Amino acid sequence: MDIPTLCKVTQVADQQQSYETALKENPLNAPQPSRSGRQKRGVAYHSRLWAPGRTLLIAFAADIPEQTQQSIFEVACQWLAYANLKFQRTADWAEAQIRIEMKPSGTGINHSLVGTDALLREDSTMTLSDWPGDEQFQRSVLHEFGHALGLDHEHQHPDADIQWNLAKLLEYAEQVGMPMEEIAENFLNRIERTQALHNAYDPGSVMHYPIPATFTLNNVAFTGSAQLSDGDKALAGKAYPFTPVHP
Ligand SMILES: [Zn+2]
Repeated sequence: MDIPTLCKVTQVADQQQSYETALKENPLNAPQPSRSGRQKRGVAYHSRLWAPGRTLLIAFAADIPEQTQQSIFEVACQWLAYANLKFQRTADWAEAQIRIEMKPSGTGINHSLVGTDALLREDSTMTLSDWPGDEQFQRSVLHEFGHALGLDHEHQHPDADIQWNLAKLLEYAEQVGMPMEEIAENFLNRIERTQALHNAYDPGSVMHYPIPATFTLNNVAFTGSAQLSDGDKALAGKAYPFTPVHP
């Protein structure tokens, strides 16, 4: 059994530009000082959240049928009960912040830029390969929109202690044509504890990969969720509070 529909977070090349764009949008994206008071070398982690209360314009590639566009939009809007943001569809590709294209069902890999990094892209910011009726449809839409809202992978949470079976993972990476660097970025690397946004580790999060037991050395499986967990709802509320927070 393989991992169903992988998701790759798309990184922008220029982290300085990512940082400046994120801070211009929402000053709370500034890196949190580490507990020791020293920043690690290199570019410090910054979050990439939108300004709370903002309306995000969403455009779909013209070849996606209207009914599919509406199904994606409706699932994505589940986040809005917990995050103080608004989504609005637009037919104008260029003016949208979130631009969605689709690949044929079963091609297997979804992508999204994280939060405000979408402002650095003129092309599509999200790719979905699960269509309405596909088993993973709702999970994939909620997951990719979680990234679009600035959320990271939950299986890379600082407290996630997944005993990856590296041999199996590498075999799988070769099968799906994923270079080692992307495996590290999307599976293995843990997120810095000092980053602005996380709550307690939540294996039931929609932002957690489903992981079959064969991929872990201790035979622990993670089922993956197609629903927003209580942790997802709490994190969305922390990122986009309905009551103003001042920097
Ligand atoms: Zn993802």
